[in-house]
Amino acid sequence: MSKTTPIDVLILGGGIQGVTLMRELIPEYSVILVDDDLSNAESLHFHGYFSSGWNAANPRAAEIYRIAAQRWHQDLANMRVNSRTTDFHAALPLEFLSSIEGNWRGAGIPFEEVPLPQPFDAGGLPSHRSFRFADDIVFDGAEAYRSVADPLRQQIYRGRVASFQCGDSVIERTTLDVNGQACEIVPELVISACGAGNTTVLEQLGVDAALVQNTQLVRPLHMLLARGMEVPPVSAFLMDLIVMYHPLETGEGLWILTLNPETPKIRAGIVDVRIPPEIEKDLVCASFDRLSSVMGDFERWAEDCDWSVYAGWKTDAPGPEGPPLIQLDYPTPYHLEDFGWQNFLAVWPNHWGLAVDAANDTGKWVRARLKSKHPQPGGESDLFPHAGKGHMLQNKWQSEDLSWQPWEDFAQQMGYRN
Ligand SMILES: Cc1cc2nc3c(=O)[nH]c(=O)nc-3n(C[C@H](O)[C@H](O)[C@H](O)COP(=O)(O)OP(=O)(O)OC[C@H]3O[C@@H](n4cnc5c(N)ncnc54)[C@H](O)[C@@H]3O)c2cc1C
Repeated sequence: MSKTTPIDVLILGGGIQGVTLMRELIPEYSVILVDDDLSNAESLHFHGYFSSGWNAANPRAAEIYRIAAQRWHQDLANMRVNSRTTDFHAALPLEFLSSIEGNWRGAGIPFEEVPLPQPFDAGGLPSHRSFRFADDIVFDGAEAYRSVADPLRQQIYRGRVASFQCGDSVIERTTLDVNGQACEIVPELVISACGAGNTTVLEQLGVDAALVQNTQLVRPLHMLLARGMEVPPVSAFLMDLIVMYHPLETGEGLWILTLNPETPKIRAGIVDVRIPPEIEKDLVCASFDRLSSVMGDFERWAEDCDWSVYAGWKTDAPGPEGPPLIQLDYPTPYHLEDFGWQNFLAVWPNHWGLAVDAANDTGKWVRARLKSKHPQPGGESDLFPHAGKGHMLQNKWQSEDLSWQPWEDFAQQMGYRN
């Protein structure tokens, strides 16, 4: 028979949102975090990039991004993580520019109008202007994640909720499955920071199915990868193509290439993130086309690289008026909701760098409801013998599971060549 543990706050989900929330609440509150499989976390799938707000359509959202980026620069410096792996440049279409440029001065976003760096030849792009955004962050996401999570590892457990036992709009007890062992937790507050998994938690709580269906949107993001000794240390946004540089331990460079499709294939409601989106070959070929339009000798360069691709589900909460937060049209570009429960909150940061803002707001929500009542279960606790162990903490693009191919084979497989 397992012990019953009282705790101030139970956090579900250990991506960047869950761990920044832990950092916000410990030691003021006793906290346990459970996560079942970090290898599916968006936080380890992503580009290692955070914008200083230049792409936000809403002036307040632009300011929130600018402040979040400055805070991360400071945080990452304190953790000795390089937040400026490269500069970030953007070649922006004139129409898009006219809708956002006004926000830059209002929000205090540093920018400089400069030509695109080598090896890009902007002559191949449609009408645009190009800029350098000095406060954008290009960094190693897994290294940053580890720096936040490592000091908290004793409170992070591998597991998930088996069931909730509820009273009238209150979660009274939670049965967790931790390393295959059933554990009873009596939490004062429960916070779901499960990314795309939030909808499954809502379903377990018995939230109305129509509400669950409308509460979250996911879309596939393709990460086309090129690695080699000739990959230039440059990161940029080229009209609709993200080019993100990371140095590899082998001495090679890596480019992550992501083309924003005109119409993203958005899916609502519950999604099983263990089943990745299908690779859309058309999108991969369009990425090659965009890159070749700015790199004179694209094919020769491509032959010097090894190629791979993966796709991940990017989660967005819908904005207050329904459409997703993708365009950053809303003043608050992240989302918290209690779904009518007195001691439950679900959190969607929408972007890696906004996890701290969402954690600050969640911290206010916690403090408005609770003064700490229970001590932190200590290291001597026999409740969870494998605390903090067993999670893979590397970027998806570093995974040994990826298969790499020479250009000829990859281009042919993607249908770029007959
Ligand atoms: C391919 C890709 C590229 C991206 N690029 C960028 C970018 O360049 N810049 C940027 O700022 N953002 C980017 N994002 C978005 C960013 O990565 C996410 O907004 C952010 O990481 C979400 O963090 P999270 O902690 O909410 O969710 P996640 O990182 O997904 O973490 C959720 C965790 O919850 C766990 N979980 C799920 N269900 C349960 C359950 N029932 N019980 C316990 N645990 C559970 C999961 O295992 C997972 O570890 C990208 C996303 C993707 C997919």
